[in-house]
Amino acid sequence: MKKIAIYGKGGIGKSTTVSNISAALALQGYKVMQIGCDPKADSTRNLTEGSNIPTVLNVLKEQEDIALEDIVFTGDLGVLCVEAGGPVPGVGCAGRGIITAFETLESLNAYETYQPDFVIYDVLGDVVCGGFAMPIRGGYADEVCIVTSGEMMSLYAASNICHAVKSFGKRGYASLKGFIYNGKNFEGEDALVYKAAEEAGTEVICKIERDGIVQKSEAMGKTVVSAYPESAMTAKYIELSKRLFGL
Ligand code: ADP
Ligand code: MG
Repeated sequence: MKKIAIYGKGGIGKSTTVSNISAALALQGYKVMQIGCDPKADSTRNLTEGSNIPTVLNVLKEQEDIALEDIVFTGDLGVLCVEAGGPVPGVGCAGRGIITAFETLESLNAYETYQPDFVIYDVLGDVVCGGFAMPIRGGYADEVCIVTSGEMMSLYAASNICHAVKSFGKRGYASLKGFIYNGKNFEGEDALVYKAAEEAGTEVICKIERDGIVQKSEAMGKTVVSAYPESAMTAKYIELSKRLFGL
């Protein structure tokens, strides 16, 4: 079982990229578990017909006894979907939700029960404190990737995440695998992203172009991989999935 955490600024395209990677791996015959670690709780939306599944935090709030089936849902192409969820805005700590979700999955033996080949954590990376750092340092993820465009705020978040991974890395936790460049298609963008990767001592694993096929698929409640399996974009996501997991 190999586990990768995908970080990045809010809205940069983590969930779009991660759910397409999950779908690409599923197409190749692998069992994948995708765990959304963003209070937005919409990581797996395009794997569940565009609807939001109950979050671990909400289920815990409403039920005393919970079973794995209450928090792990089988989505499109058999991808196992989990959403950590978040607290009511203004009350409680968003990162705490991730810690609670991880502890719950573990206490219910989720990994032993489903035995996924791959686990992908989709993590909001605007602040890498407390619970948001959990996938890096709790022994959860083997490697960390960062989704970024060439926009300044996105590269700023990427740089912070790199620092966090490196400082934890010294203590034997997850290592930095590289950037997933999710382009915004502006002039000079490539140079900015490749320079930032070099400065961070890492590499650009793959560049994903901005393409309206993403929105078309989203409107159907699907990933591009599932809605347009023959498209060039699907081929790109398959290539990315192979590079990420060494297939
Ligand atoms: P995050 O999970 O990082 O908050 P999302 O994956 O939800 O971000 O992406 C935000 C929006 O950006 C999505 O609704 C999607 O339509 C759009 N998007 C992301 N990646 C691409 C892409 N490569 N091409 C076109 N649109 C994209
Ligand atoms: Mg997201």
